[in-house]
Amino acid sequence: MKLFTETLSDGYGQSLSIDELLFEQQTEHQHLIIFQNRFFGRVMALDGIVQTTERDEFIYHEMMVHVPMLAHGAALRVLIIGGGDGGILREVLKHRSVEKVVQVEIDQAVIDLCKTFLPNHSAGAFDDPRVEIKIADGMAFVCEADIEPFDVIISDCTDPVGPGEVLFSSKFYEGCKRLLKSNGVFVAQNGVVFMQPDELINTQNRLSPYFKDTRFYTVAVPTYVGGVMALAWGCDDLQTSQLNVSLLHQRYEASGLNCRYYTPSVHASAFHLPAYVQNLIAK
Ligand code: SAM
Repeated sequence: MKLFTETLSDGYGQSLSIDELLFEQQTEHQHLIIFQNRFFGRVMALDGIVQTTERDEFIYHEMMVHVPMLAHGAALRVLIIGGGDGGILREVLKHRSVEKVVQVEIDQAVIDLCKTFLPNHSAGAFDDPRVEIKIADGMAFVCEADIEPFDVIISDCTDPVGPGEVLFSSKFYEGCKRLLKSNGVFVAQNGVVFMQPDELINTQNRLSPYFKDTRFYTVAVPTYVGGVMALAWGCDDLQTSQLNVSLLHQRYEASGLNCRYYTPSVHASAFHLPAYVQNLIAK
């Protein structure tokens, strides 16, 4: 049996059987592999790190999108950085308030290959008339783009290795703040806390100068191994992350969403952090 073994954490990693190799290529930016696994379905990895699987992608994509979108409540314009598999885009477009989504992905190959081999991730989202795809470095875009600001910015990037590294920098967060409306919400994937505690500490230090409310919420994604993943949150409105469950429930009911992981209660409780995570932030 051929195994894919993840290389993210030193001395620890998950292995998935490669039951059928579907595609493998060194793109202009990173090594990309897509394979069939008997439990998780189709799996994509970039530079040896699992990015997404058919079976558990809904967990991450629902929590990365519906928490900021339902907390904001009336997002018209959304910016996605990364997200080449299309899962974030698919979920954002489910919100009827959305009039425009700009997605800045550095690697066209990821979009093309995910459309082909992981079609249910984007499920046609890339063809939605509200969507504008830009193939560019997200860092350069947020620092230089002359564009109308956004209500929600979602950074769905790879881990801080390779092309994704710049998307965890102060300069990137400054650029995102520049492109965010005054009551806008910024969220970003921020690694599995137990395995990558420095990522959380770095983000807290680099993000907090730009947002009055810098915090994290968590989600447990089976193939982001080692415990809960922290999702970074930045907003200048202190109430947006503190909405009560009944208001979130009203918004969820009105949205017409029918999620498999997200619930208003899970949304509210996700911001309650384990003591070890709170202690890391306090550092
Ligand atoms: N959900 C995954 C996770 O949490 O690790 C991320 C999925 S998505 C495939 C990550 C995307 O970020 C990839 O398509 C990659 O090409 C893109 N990316 C990496 N660095 C980037 C950059 N500097 N600018 C824009 N996109 C970037």
